[in-house]
Amino acid sequence: MEQDPRGRDRYQADWGLAWGLWAPASGSWVLARMLCLGQAAGMDGVSTGVKGQDARPALTFLGGAGTVTGSKFLVEARGVRVLLDCGLFQGARELRRRNWEPFPLPAREIDAVVLTHAHLDHCGYLPALVRQGFAGQVFATGYTAELAEIVLRDSAKLLAEEAEQANSYGWSKHHPALPLYTEDDVDRAVRQISPVDPGQVTIIAPHTALTLHHAGHILGSAWARLELTGGHRSCTLACSGDLGRPAHPLLRPPDPFTGADVLLVESTYGNREHADDQARQAFAEAITRTLERGGSVIIPAFAVDRTEVILRTLRELRQAGQIPLSPVLIDSPMALAALGVYQKAIAAHSSELRSEIVADGTEALDPGWMQELRTAAESMTANRPARPSLIVSASGMATGGRVLHHLRHLLPDRRNTVLIVGFAAEGTRVRDLAEGARTIKIHGEYVPVRAEIIQADAFSAHADADDVLSWLAGAPEPAATYVVHGEASAAAALRDRLDHELGWTAAVPALGERVTIRARELRHRALPRWCAGRADRPTGPGGSAGTAGSRGESPGACPPEDDARPGPARASAARPARSQRGAAPPPTAQPVVPWAGRCSTTVSEDGMNTLS
Ligand SMILES: [Zn+2]
Repeated sequence: MEQDPRGRDRYQADWGLAWGLWAPASGSWVLARMLCLGQAAGMDGVSTGVKGQDARPALTFLGGAGTVTGSKFLVEARGVRVLLDCGLFQGARELRRRNWEPFPLPAREIDAVVLTHAHLDHCGYLPALVRQGFAGQVFATGYTAELAEIVLRDSAKLLAEEAEQANSYGWSKHHPALPLYTEDDVDRAVRQISPVDPGQVTIIAPHTALTLHHAGHILGSAWARLELTGGHRSCTLACSGDLGRPAHPLLRPPDPFTGADVLLVESTYGNREHADDQARQAFAEAITRTLERGGSVIIPAFAVDRTEVILRTLRELRQAGQIPLSPVLIDSPMALAALGVYQKAIAAHSSELRSEIVADGTEALDPGWMQELRTAAESMTANRPARPSLIVSASGMATGGRVLHHLRHLLPDRRNTVLIVGFAAEGTRVRDLAEGARTIKIHGEYVPVRAEIIQADAFSAHADADDVLSWLAGAPEPAATYVVHGEASAAAALRDRLDHELGWTAAVPALGERVTIRARELRHRALPRWCAGRADRPTGPGGSAGTAGSRGESPGACPPEDDARPGPARASAARPARSQRGAAPPPTAQPVVPWAGRCSTTVSEDGMNTLS
């Protein structure tokens, strides 16, 4: 049956109707916002500001601000709109509801999308954007393109299953509940992805060049650097995406940050440090203890990368005799598909991988007694394993997927253990478990929690606060640094450390906030002579990608301006910390409200800038 092209689900049946029915108490701002959005849809240049050649470059935080999910950063410059990441909101219901809000400008007005990596909170909204009319190109590394297709197809399947279950069990107030997007939308989205090589300068839109750099977070992950040319002065914007850890067991450390006028840096672990040795020890001891008492271990794991890291760790622990031999059940078709991509990268000797992994070959990720559970019937065997086993199953935060069935069956038994090995976002079941919940709700029922719960989040693929500071410390200070992709306390902690330890002006943006972009003062600029005029920099035709050659290899490809500078380690002594300098000026520009156009600003109950 043809679905409503705007999408409906268990939360929301129809935009116009649902906004009216769903939040009637929210009052006039809802209606006013709808009117403004209506204007935006019909009037070019109203939605996020002036889409003109003369408008100042601007950045709008459409997601990944105040939360670790939903990453979407809109960059507008000289009439071009680029969306950095296109992630799905996950976790608490209030956040997930945002996936159903109309995109704040007509999707067809986005010229290009850049994906930093294939995790759902960075790419999972892409089919919804395509469904709403986005027809431009999507730029990502080749491995991200492969993994994103796997992740998006799984996401569409999960959304369909949730809608089906909601209809069966009557969870939804919408009849029928429909998914946010379908496999057809995913088909169209993946066709729009154009792989680009890390380190290559690629013209992704007029006046807009992209370079992706290895980020070491998951296979294919990158931090992105945009160069916005033309107008008064070129400026650069870098986005860390999710930054990997130098200690990642499979991937080599991230390429160093070389500087930009504006920086968006993630802060998932902005207030924490990983304790690798203790976490590995806790992981091994929990497995041994559980198997010895006849229980099984459930490891909710992100299908991409975390599963591979767990398999590698199990292999090493077994080789060292630190854990007994037992079946390792990989219960996720998505995880198995992603594992295939990692195996392929190992076979291809990918430069993203550590040399010892490449040297081990495809056995690098073999724990010794692995069983692949692909079908639903095979998955059900893990609900009551024939012998004590290790069950690795998605999703990582137990927000959906097969792991819910295993938790439902295994949590009530004291012999079992749940090992939490990744970030546990607010509002998710693993967060509830980590915080000691005695019951959790699964499929509409409360399940008693009697199993042991162990948190070993050093297995996270995210840099911790020290890692982020080290990554930044050798670069010149941006004109503005925005701390994103973190819960409030983590983002604030990282902002303070940037201030006190590097002396950088940093701000934590609000969801929906818009700021203007400017180039910083270009002290020490020392571009190569052949690059000084930039007249020979290739520029591609509008909307089509043109690879400008490997950085530094071709006279036609200017290195990013900061790369050409001497890169002295930046000591905090080079510039006094804010506390020593007195009150610092506000970050780069005044916050303004997105979608404003002719509308004035108010702040809604949830603190998000809205319209009236
Ligand atoms: Zn990620």
